[in-house]
Amino acid sequence: MDDPKAQIMCALTHLKKIVNTAVKNISPFYITKPWGIAEQPDFINAVVLLETTLSPLKLIHVLQEIENKMGRKKVQRNGPRVIDLDIIFYDNFILNHDDLTLPHPRYSDRAFVLQPLFDIAPQLILPNGQQLRDHLATLDLSTITRIETQ
Ligand code: AMP
Repeated sequence: MDDPKAQIMCALTHLKKIVNTAVKNISPFYITKPWGIAEQPDFINAVVLLETTLSPLKLIHVLQEIENKMGRKKVQRNGPRVIDLDIIFYDNFILNHDDLTLPHPRYSDRAFVLQPLFDIAPQLILPNGQQLRDHLATLDLSTITRIETQ
């Protein structure tokens, strides 16, 4: 909502301030046609590589605090929102907790997650043993458009 590029820049500023955590890489930004509900503005998506000593649960709670600080209000599932911060992978952790599922349960069919992930981690091997590169080749990339961040 509002100015999505500015929202992502603001979220990045918050990520850089998380204790015991370093932002190691930031992907290019992609404009994405909305998922689920079509009658809403386009989304912008990006992937960030963090190095942290926070536990996965502590990290998701910190990310949720950032979402709250940025004024995210949950109105409608898959609908417009100011910011949405998800954890896609945390090393090779597998977790099924009420607050956090790892890997993220819906990453594997989302070009808007996997293309920016590929941009910063082209050698990544997915939990099923498949090369990210090979999996990405099976997805429809026409739904996303890379934009200049400067
Ligand atoms: P969303 O609307 O996609 O932000 O979903 C947020 C809800 O999903 C919160 O209740 C989170 O605790 C939960 N959740 C479970 N797994 C994850 C994950 N890997 N990343 C972010 N949120 C998650």
